[in-house]
Amino acid sequence: MKIAVIPGDGIGKEVMQEALLVLETLQELEEDLSVDTTIFDWSSDYYLRTGRMMPEEGLTILADYDAILFGAIGDARVPDDVTVWELIMPIRKQFDQYVNFRPVKSLPGIASPLAHADHIDFVIFRENTEGEYSNSGGRLYRDKPQDLAIQNTVMTKKGIGNIVSAACDYAQKYGKSTVTSATKSNAVIHTMKFWDECVTEEMKQYPDLHLKSYYIDALVAYFVEKPQEFEVVVASNLFGDILSDLGSAIIGGLGLSPSGNINPERNYPSMFEPVHGSAPDIAGRGIANPIAQIWSLALLLGHLGRTDLEKVIVSSIERVLEAGEVKTADIGGSATTKEMGTAIREAVKMSFERRVV
Ligand code: ATP
Repeated sequence: MKIAVIPGDGIGKEVMQEALLVLETLQELEEDLSVDTTIFDWSSDYYLRTGRMMPEEGLTILADYDAILFGAIGDARVPDDVTVWELIMPIRKQFDQYVNFRPVKSLPGIASPLAHADHIDFVIFRENTEGEYSNSGGRLYRDKPQDLAIQNTVMTKKGIGNIVSAACDYAQKYGKSTVTSATKSNAVIHTMKFWDECVTEEMKQYPDLHLKSYYIDALVAYFVEKPQEFEVVVASNLFGDILSDLGSAIIGGLGLSPSGNINPERNYPSMFEPVHGSAPDIAGRGIANPIAQIWSLALLLGHLGRTDLEKVIVSSIERVLEAGEVKTADIGGSATTKEMGTAIREAVKMSFERRVV
């Protein structure tokens, strides 16, 4: 496996170190795991030095890798539209990573802000390359009284069909019965009506699956009131983005939530990253929770065919949380990033000892 590693900014660099140490531990324990990693320092610092978020041939360089492990990006010295549109968006769009996959799962020992929030276990399939996050639009009459901005939503039958079929394939593979679609076709009467039509059309290919369609305003309330009822949620780019952070919040925090930007056809590398950002408020203090980053590594290994190692990592995270002795500040403890990383590595080693026994 050839993996490109982009730690990025802020806590991205800190949590990435722990994920790479977990990978090192796995390589020591598993003889047939051969991983080559290359670290790229593409980040806001890189931008301030070179005027670019990545080199001109950055995408060509990355195309040569099997997958990308990404940390986080965002720095007060560089506008957000530069960091996002010159690094993350080109990778997602050019590598046709049209699936943004975000598991939302209750974890042992983690207090949810919701009462009765046990057994939450669903996944969100967010459309990742079109929809509301298009760069079609513009600004007119800047600084004049008639100042105006237009941002166009771009939805295509192919794009919607692709995300729905990815969600349905997952539902079938994991024995789920219902796919929930997030819509707002009562108010957004062109693109969201089209979304509904295309979702219904695509779901005809999956007669064994049941489609539930909710307006986004109702759906966010249901995420809070009855999150246990969901299995697979499919949403456009903007709705999926918001639902994902809500999903992280109801299971107990951003520091725990991984994600995958996936090109299911495998024509290009897929990219795995924590849901959280660079967290400038705690960056440099060594207290960030590395779980989301380590879990993102697990998703990457699963995507590259090592679902056995994905399970080892996820169950190791669960065991550490269940024991409750090592907890970072975001989940109610005082452990450092390094202490949490070390505890997870020890749990990984124990999994292998058990396997050998
Ligand atoms: P960005 O602009 O990069 O998205 P942000 O601060 O707006 O940065 P996040 O980085 O996602 O957004 O952080 C939101 C809040 O969650 C912050 O208070 C941050 O400290 C906290 N947070 C995020 N990730 C973690 C983590 N891994 N461990 C602990 N706290 C975290």
